[in-house]
Amino acid sequence: DSQEHPLVVLSAMSGVTNLLTKMAENAAERLPFEEDVKFLEEKHFAVVKELIAVKYQNPVFTKLKLMLNDLEEILHGVFALKELSAQSKDLIVSFGERFSNYMVSKIMEQYIPDALYIDASHYVKTDSNFGNAHLNEELTNQLVQSLAITHADKLMFVTGFIGSNDKGRVTTLGRGGSDYTAAIFGAVLNAKVIEIWTDVDGMLTADPRIVKKAFSLPVLSYTEAMELSYFGAKVIYPPTMIPAFMKRIPIAIRNTFNPE
Ligand code: ASP
Ligand code: MG
Repeated sequence: DSQEHPLVVLSAMSGVTNLLTKMAENAAERLPFEEDVKFLEEKHFAVVKELIAVKYQNPVFTKLKLMLNDLEEILHGVFALKELSAQSKDLIVSFGERFSNYMVSKIMEQYIPDALYIDASHYVKTDSNFGNAHLNEELTNQLVQSLAITHADKLMFVTGFIGSNDKGRVTTLGRGGSDYTAAIFGAVLNAKVIEIWTDVDGMLTADPRIVKKAFSLPVLSYTEAMELSYFGAKVIYPPTMIPAFMKRIPIAIRNTFNPE
């Protein structure tokens, strides 16, 4: 029906999660991180300058700056303690998804006033296995469902990869976990399709860097896709298949650089 519209789940900008991880580890070793914070600021500000009209830029810079200050304060804490817990590391890396989703929601707001930034850590509930947290399905379903009802006519930009435990502490779902977030939301909301936008045409029969004749598979079963991912196909984060399979929602792999 005409009410249907997408929900967008974004990962961090390229290289940002790795950099944040390095910054967290550096801080614990009493190595400087200020330059890297500056680099992150410039990386995101450059996109704002490019894609947001000048008259709308200031509040976006301000909000990003506030987030960067929060990040820096947390890094100072790690620096002071000379100690990086798994919990602090998750909190630090979660900034990548917050920056990108906030920024892109503001870019899109110029064209679609209903664009809305959503910090998924309030809706994706997990255990306390920091770095690779397991989903609390029941609670997440309830929270995501009520989120969708509250914002039925909004176009949501949802942080991939991040959740929170029962105490509200930020957790992450494992590297590459944004795909999983997309599938979690897709399944709860009974999406027609879960599209994974990436840089290849689909799942390949083998690693194309090693096997020249690798070809992409047009249709796979969930089990085949899961097997391929577990055996190293990096296209999709393996747990992504689970919520999709439970609701029999197809997953489409779309190539950002070669969309049809
Ligand atoms: N940004 C996170 C990572 O680099 C999540 C993702 O990319 O899906 O692992
Ligand atoms: Mg990814």
